[in-house]
Amino acid sequence: MSSIGGNLQGGQSIQMVMARLNAAIARRSAHFGGSVSLVAVSKNRPVADIRRAFAGGLRLFGENYVQEAIDKIALLADLRGNHPSGGIQWHLIGPLQSNKAKLASTYFDWVQSVDRQKIADALNQHRGIEVEPLNVLVQVNISGEMSKSGAAVDVVLPLAKHIAALPRLNLRGLMAIVENVSEEAILRKQFQQMRRLFDEVKSCYPQADTLSMGMSQDYTVAIDEGATMIRVGSAIFGARDAKGAS
Ligand SMILES: *Cc1c(COP(=O)(O)O)cnc(C)c1O
Repeated sequence: MSSIGGNLQGGQSIQMVMARLNAAIARRSAHFGGSVSLVAVSKNRPVADIRRAFAGGLRLFGENYVQEAIDKIALLADLRGNHPSGGIQWHLIGPLQSNKAKLASTYFDWVQSVDRQKIADALNQHRGIEVEPLNVLVQVNISGEMSKSGAAVDVVLPLAKHIAALPRLNLRGLMAIVENVSEEAILRKQFQQMRRLFDEVKSCYPQADTLSMGMSQDYTVAIDEGATMIRVGSAIFGARDAKGAS
């Protein structure tokens, strides 16, 4: 097998991530439940890597840039819907501008980066009626850093309320990128704040079943603190070049 994916040779990195994921679920509070879905973050990766990860059993893929994703989605159309072992699912996880909302609502199954009403309205307006409503997560700027996208904590509930009333969107929960630090106490605190906010959203909107947090460096901590979905790039595909580092 060739090694375009670096780390992905023979699917070993997928097995490693799954093993750590399952160990983290086993030791966390039973209160959080027993399943966590894994989104493989494939930004800046060639479609050959995605095919290999799909063959290794992964089905959810996350992309950051709408145009890059659309090109890949077209090249991987054979892995969609009616694939015998279950189709591929595409998640937009990067910041979204309103002028790309039409494309995003057409090509993606989930948009995890909704952080304002204007974007929600544009996605709702363009989501076709022949397909399921678009699954959306409200992205929260939990670290409060100026450089980060995401809704401020105090507007999350009003934004969730707005989304829940839009017929072509399905409010599935919250997403966050915590601060890029190594101190576990800081990470844990931000994951806990997200979990509390998620519980508030869930109590108002029972269809909200997804808390997307945790990346290659911190996903086991995120699972400890109640993540239901993690987004993992480099631990599956190997280190990205500088261009894809953000
Ligand atoms: C790139 C990215 C990831 C994955 O990051 P890794 O550190 O490679 O696991 C997850 N979420 C978002 C929003 C990203 O942009």
